[in-house]
Amino acid sequence: MHEVSIAEGILSAVKSTLVNEPQAKVTSVTVSIGELAGIEIQALLFAWDSVTRGTLADESKLVINRVAGEAWCMKCAKNVALHRHGDPCPSCGGYQLMPVKGHELKVDSLELSFDET
Ligand SMILES: [Zn+2]
Repeated sequence: MHEVSIAEGILSAVKSTLVNEPQAKVTSVTVSIGELAGIEIQALLFAWDSVTRGTLADESKLVINRVAGEAWCMKCAKNVALHRHGDPCPSCGGYQLMPVKGHELKVDSLELSFDET
C-alpha cells in the first residue's frame, strides 16, 4: 500500500528532526498534503497508527492540512482550481491544464512532550 510508505517517510523525517532529543515523545505531527498528491487521507491516517506503534511517535496524532490544487489553463490564460487530475477547467471546460499547485507533501510542525523519567 502506497500510504504505508508515505507514513514511513513522514516518520523518518520526524525521527531525523529529533535525533538529538532522545527524551522527546511526539504528540502530534502536522503535514501539508496537496489535493493532487494522490494520497488517500483515510488510508494514510490508518497507516500512521500502524507504522508509529512502538516508536517515539506512538499514539501521536497526524494532523492533515489540505492544500488546494491549482492549474494553469492555456485557454483562459489564468490559474484555475483543479481538484483531481483529469478534471476539466472549471471556467472553460477545456483540458489544456498544467497543474501548478497541489502536489506537496511536507511536514509542517511537530508537537512534543518530554518524559521526566
Ligand atoms: Zn479554462
